[in-house]
Amino acid sequence: MGTRFDSILGTIGRTPVVRINKLAPAGVNLFVKLEAFNPMGSVKDRLALGVIEDAEKRGLLKPGQTVIEATSGNTGIGLAMVCAQKGYPLVLTMAENFSVERRRMMRFLGAQVILTPAAEKGSGMLAKAVELAEAHGWFLCRQFENEANADFHSRTTAPEILEDFADVQLDYWVTGFGTGGTLKGVARVLREKSPQTRILVCEPDNSPLLGSGVRQVRAPDGAPAGSHPSFRPHLMQGWTPDFISKLTEDAVAQGLIDQIMPIPGDEALCLSRELARKEGIFCGITAGATLAGGLRICRSSPAGTNVLCMLPDTGERYLSTPLFADIETEMTAEELEVSRSTPGYRFDRPSAAPAASAAVNITPDAETFVAQALSDPAHPVVMFALEWCEFCWSLRKLFAKCGIDYRSVDLDSAQYQQDNLGGAIRAALNAHTGCITIPQIFVAGEFIGGCTEVFDEFKSGRLQQRLEQAGVVYDKKVTIDPYSLLPSWLHPRQSS
Ligand code: PMP
Repeated sequence: MGTRFDSILGTIGRTPVVRINKLAPAGVNLFVKLEAFNPMGSVKDRLALGVIEDAEKRGLLKPGQTVIEATSGNTGIGLAMVCAQKGYPLVLTMAENFSVERRRMMRFLGAQVILTPAAEKGSGMLAKAVELAEAHGWFLCRQFENEANADFHSRTTAPEILEDFADVQLDYWVTGFGTGGTLKGVARVLREKSPQTRILVCEPDNSPLLGSGVRQVRAPDGAPAGSHPSFRPHLMQGWTPDFISKLTEDAVAQGLIDQIMPIPGDEALCLSRELARKEGIFCGITAGATLAGGLRICRSSPAGTNVLCMLPDTGERYLSTPLFADIETEMTAEELEVSRSTPGYRFDRPSAAPAASAAVNITPDAETFVAQALSDPAHPVVMFALEWCEFCWSLRKLFAKCGIDYRSVDLDSAQYQQDNLGGAIRAALNAHTGCITIPQIFVAGEFIGGCTEVFDEFKSGRLQQRLEQAGVVYDKKVTIDPYSLLPSWLHPRQSS
């Protein structure tokens, strides 16, 4: 980009518009605006910055004050970035049925995530946020009613679109709605500055809140009073909560919508995959759904028509959802066939022996080190380990769960680099135990074995006996299958 930014917040917006080359019918110009290019990968980064900076300007949010919001994920992730950068503690409420990678991302960014029961739907997580905000005096973002959400789109998304289509007429702009911030904020500017642009709004076909024509009942402050009667659970996370938001209703009331298009869930999933495979554009489910709407218009439009679809987020947010249901983790039959088409590096036969690495000599220092480590009364449990080895990590997890204090000698760590002391210790250890693999675990100087042996001894109770004899204090209540601590690719592989 050739630009230096003062902080990550400066990179929000100015997302690219890209032509669809293979999925669109010949002659019609279908474009997509890729909101996945925002720093946290979704359109909601805009809202997060817009709402927080507006609250700061109005004095509604004081330095260090806690921010709270109800979110299906993308808003929470955007807010977590903005609050991390600006130093506000953040609490998010979220229904338990939204994808787990979202929760973990928010927590990774330092936010707290309070889950609410799926049965109580979007309005349940919203009510929880209100309850917490009132009880603790936190700043509630109110993304569904907050004008700052739509305003930010009017100030950024809309001008970006106008600039990108300054030289051609934009005939159709296609979007969905969650909060309705994108819809209201962009549509009102397009109406004024590009009146020939038709505004099309997509919603799930099984949950036609706008299509039903039934009004949302709401409280005096604009918040919804309960679920909309036409709401049904749908696949398009981020679209159509179980109520029509105030911002969406404003867009309807102001005549900003020219057409409402019902989109089937399977079409949304299919087009999200097609976007990835045919265009190399990696987006979420609502992106596929918006493209489905765009393609309908393309099919009924004359050559030369220009259509722009908003694609709200990245596909990476959906790894645990139906979008990836058919994507295998293990090799498929075709992939196995490719693997078996050459002799080496296969699972069904051993590879040729690896080239022997240069032998490392045992030094007197290394021998002394091992002898001292194994007779140190301060550390009866000793693990000779490698820093990033998965077996070592699984053992570390077991020891941590049981509260077992141990000395870890990480042979490949910087501490043992000089003169290859780590290598010499490993050689001395090999000579002592006759075992060439790492980790090697000792209790009171006695060699137990590696990961498998320790796990087996833990399961049989032998390890616990040894610990007691050695006077090692640990939590005797822990019951766990230690093998569950191994990453799945290290579990014994079924031969195929
Ligand atoms: N798609 C996804 C994946 C979203 O997270 C959202 C926001 N909830 C939207 C679409 C809709 O955007 P808006 O809230 O601006 O209506």
